[in-house]
Amino acid sequence: MYRVGIDLGGTNIAAGIIDDNYQLISQASLPTGAFRPWQEMVNDLGDAVDMALQKAGLTAAECASIGIGSPGTCDSERGVVVRAYNLGWFEVPVCETLHDRFGIPVRLSNDANCAALAEVVAGAAKGRKDVVMVTLGTGVGGGIIIDGKIYAGMRSAGAELGHTVLVMDGEPCSCGRNGCWEAYASMTALIRQATRAAEAHPDSLLARQETLDGVSIFRCIDQGDETAKAVVDRWCEYVAAGLTDLVNALAPEMILLGGGVCRQGERILAPMREYVADHCFGQRQGAIPVIAAAALGNEAGIIGAASL
Ligand SMILES: [Zn+2]
Repeated sequence: MYRVGIDLGGTNIAAGIIDDNYQLISQASLPTGAFRPWQEMVNDLGDAVDMALQKAGLTAAECASIGIGSPGTCDSERGVVVRAYNLGWFEVPVCETLHDRFGIPVRLSNDANCAALAEVVAGAAKGRKDVVMVTLGTGVGGGIIIDGKIYAGMRSAGAELGHTVLVMDGEPCSCGRNGCWEAYASMTALIRQATRAAEAHPDSLLARQETLDGVSIFRCIDQGDETAKAVVDRWCEYVAAGLTDLVNALAPEMILLGGGVCRQGERILAPMREYVADHCFGQRQGAIPVIAAAALGNEAGIIGAASL
């Protein structure tokens, strides 16, 4: 049986069809055009689905379901995007609208949850039941899989793993609270930490970069810069301290890290594993999960949504 997945982002709407083996057999995309009336945007979601179906030579009736991964707060029970600031969406009944058009079941979840589900059905966590995925990007996203299913809590409002406090009265966070894990462990936070270090150490290579980002900071380390190394070492500790809290709260079998920075591989993963083993409850005798990088790339959103 075929399934349709829609990865709705702030820039693009990507729709795709997967087969029984979670292989993407066709894909189509349209610009999101955020902040238009939601009816127009949902119509474009449907058009992207039609384009993907056409490429695959299928009709909607030959597919079991449509799944949507959306940014923001999504109520999976009601099939409503409650609020997605980057789309300008509030209380959008996206599932009902697409169900009326295609006549097959339509499911909805947050994009971070979809990414986690995709890794469990077809990626680095294939075959695992209890998995947490943490995406280190502009913010820190989270997806919790328990017994093979997304756990999102009441009104699908949970799994906001980035908004747990790491430092009381610490750095301000986009959510309005201070000291959130996200405010220390996101890429935005790493760049802020590097910017401050560059100001404090004007002789460092960091201070000589045109732009500080997730690539140039690591390049400074490759060129032997101690200041950059100290910044990244500390950032790895911030990430790992939050991972340790997840281990203590949930004891998952596996924690997957996503986001472009994970291309740095073992240089960030190895120190994080050491930190978790040294600090989790029971230390090295504790329930230490496998900690690895996510395996799926851009297609994760479609595969996860289609698997809802
Ligand atoms: Zn926060």
